[in-house]
Amino acid sequence: MKRILVTGGAGFLGSHLIDRLVEQGHDVICLDNLQTGSLRNIQHIQENITFIKHDITEPPPELGCLDEIYNLACPASPVHYQADPIHTFKTSVLGALHLLELARQTGAKIFQASTSEVYGDPLVHPQPEHYWGHVNPIGIRSCYDEGKRGAETLFFDYARMYDIEIKIVRIFNTYGPRMDANDGRVVSNFIVQSLQNQPLTVYGDGLQTRSFCYVDDLIEGFLRLMATPKEITGPINLGNPNEFTMLELAEKVIKGTGKKMQLQYEPIPQDDPQQRQPVIDEAKRLLNWEPKVMLEEGLEKTIAYFKERV
Ligand code: NAD
Ligand code: UDP
Repeated sequence: MKRILVTGGAGFLGSHLIDRLVEQGHDVICLDNLQTGSLRNIQHIQENITFIKHDITEPPPELGCLDEIYNLACPASPVHYQADPIHTFKTSVLGALHLLELARQTGAKIFQASTSEVYGDPLVHPQPEHYWGHVNPIGIRSCYDEGKRGAETLFFDYARMYDIEIKIVRIFNTYGPRMDANDGRVVSNFIVQSLQNQPLTVYGDGLQTRSFCYVDDLIEGFLRLMATPKEITGPINLGNPNEFTMLELAEKVIKGTGKKMQLQYEPIPQDDPQQRQPVIDEAKRLLNWEPKVMLEEGLEKTIAYFKERV
């Protein structure tokens, strides 16, 4: 049994990760400021974990011995991370700094939830890990993109200077149950709109692409990376390489909900990446990992979750 800290554990991905860690019998501490997460996401396991309300822009409280730290704390939806961009940047950079210090003091392995956003609006397609990206440093997405890039830098500098054990994943768009209905991301928006018989809001011409990964596949990748030997640090892309336009996604959601197709076109947000698809050769080679849940099946499970709630 390990003692494991999960920051952002009351969020969408964090709560699924905690489920797996508790299932494996670990002692889990969840640190979250509940900015975008909710205690509802961890209610079913509240007896089995320790929850501490804390903002990682501040140094963490005394937590005792730790074997592993998963740093997932950060709003992930553009709507949320742009609401207070300075706090988002602090969460990524100061938060990473505080947790890396904790890893240094406790000797814990530390995992960073990085993002495909480090590639920005990519000029190389699909995106391998060695692509350095095409990020606007001063746009409205920069607080998130540059914050996450800065966190990766800190992770590698801490590893080089203090020999701590780091693991970094670059997550591509992931969806599933426990996404917040008001989160603003495309999958939850389309499902909720469709279930409420509202038109689906398509930004721009809807021909921009994303590659959508189901949450269970992603979490399996996290656990596999954490279990690798020290020399395997990442960054490793985790995502489902099947790429779809937003119009194709809209069609699949409508098919899944059985509702009528109605679209409402809205302006494309600034710096919205035109295309995104992971190269996952490294995850296959080093983790023997690849996604198993295809979009139709994952949407079915996600639609079932939202049907109970909207
Ligand atoms: P989420 O918004 O559901 O979860 C984030 C959690 O972090 C929430 O519980 C929130 O309250 C908490 N949080 C935010 N700022 C905090 C702070 N300063 N201190 C403490 N807690 C804080 O988002 P998610 O989709 O679960 O994303 C989890 C992580 O994965 C994030 O770091 C995100 O950047 C990364 N990621 C997610 C995706 C995706 O598609 N879901 C893609 C790329 C990267
Ligand atoms: N999008 C959309 N309608 C929505 C929400 C988003 O067409 O209601 C588009 C958005 O412009 C982007 C894509 O869907 O091109 C994915 O957006 P999301 O916010 O889910 O993730 P990210 O842009 O961070 O990949």
